[in-house]
Amino acid sequence: MSDTPALIKPIPVPDADSRLYWEGANQGKFMFQRCLSCGKAQFYSRSLCSHCQGKNLEWQAAKGLGKVASFSVVHRAPIAPFADDAPYVVALIDMDEGFRFMCNVIHCDPATVRIGMPVRTVFEERPGSTQKIPQAEPM
Ligand SMILES: [Zn+2]
Repeated sequence: MSDTPALIKPIPVPDADSRLYWEGANQGKFMFQRCLSCGKAQFYSRSLCSHCQGKNLEWQAAKGLGKVASFSVVHRAPIAPFADDAPYVVALIDMDEGFRFMCNVIHCDPATVRIGMPVRTVFEERPGSTQKIPQAEPM
């Protein structure tokens, strides 16, 4: 082919509910919400508590530690910009603060990822953007 498409990965577009999350990521902080009415953690961010519908939500910085709850190894990327990454891991991470987070587990051989594996958050930089993307890597 003579036409090579631009291989730019999608870049998040922060909105009113997610702005502090994405700004935190750019500062190396993993931000999430905790409800001051029921005490439960919430992720992703919303304007109401998903547990009790309370409006009294507080932003907190997670320590960035968790464990793999489930994962899949992607061998065929759904869109071209991810093709060079395959095989790669998409995982659900149970964070120590009590919420679940979906991300890639990076900086490792996908064959080594296991359920229950301890991970920590890292902030991926993507070409063409100043927005850092929260991901996980093995401890
Ligand atoms: Zn609540």
